[in-house]
Amino acid sequence: MASVEIDQVGKSYGALEVIKDLNLHLEDGKLTVFVGPSGCGKSTLLRMIAGLERITAGEIRIDGKRANDADPIERGVAMVFQNYALYPHMTVEQNIGFSLRMAGLTRPDIAARVRAAAQTLQIEELLSRKPAQLSGGQRQRVAIGRAIVRDPKVFLFDEPLSNLDAELRVSMRVEIAKLHQKLQNTMIYVTHDQTEAMTLADRIVVMRAGKIEQVGTPEELYEEPANLFVAGFIGSPR
Ligand code: ADP
Ligand code: MG
Repeated sequence: MASVEIDQVGKSYGALEVIKDLNLHLEDGKLTVFVGPSGCGKSTLLRMIAGLERITAGEIRIDGKRANDADPIERGVAMVFQNYALYPHMTVEQNIGFSLRMAGLTRPDIAARVRAAAQTLQIEELLSRKPAQLSGGQRQRVAIGRAIVRDPKVFLFDEPLSNLDAELRVSMRVEIAKLHQKLQNTMIYVTHDQTEAMTLADRIVVMRAGKIEQVGTPEELYEEPANLFVAGFIGSPR
């Protein structure tokens, strides 16, 4: 388990400053949702926390340790992407076990951990299938399985349900809430879906143009939005 501290973090692509002097402290074991319009920097921030993108200013600490130069495995983070990013030529079992094979675990150890992850996500009967033989919801479960099998301290989701149809989105949202209850780890979840944010979050971070507009519980943001932008995003009657 781990806290995530973002301290005066900035990110520029050449002259384009996409994250500006951002400060945020995420508590251990909480589910934080980032919301904000397209292009405001949510994915960039997530990728910087994951160690997939270098920060150009400030410091990120995970579990109290400076993580600026650490890779995702060293940081103890795992990320689930919007497009699943499964390996098409591998079975579900191989997809979920891939990072463990890279890490040099033994076959029996890998098999046991893959089975435990599959059990958690109720996809045990799909282990021998290829991604092409799965539905969208099943693929997303496999993508989540690939992340949880590593037992990450911090779990990052970038709009994981946005490619699913409305009905499936609701049931997967419930699954993710259950997963968080079970694993009790630090989760950061990016979405542009206001209902997802309001129902999943312990805390919501509202972003706009590379900055934070407001941080609070769903109730706080709904009852006392700091400005019209937040009110509009959260759907407050104001
Ligand atoms: P969001 O996830 O909130 O939609 P992003 O983090 O993807 O936003 O993007 C934030 C800004 O950074 C956008 O203006 C985007 O065009 C820009 N951006 C993202 N990645 C790159 C990159 N690799 N090179 C240049 N600009 C980028
Ligand atoms: Mg994005």
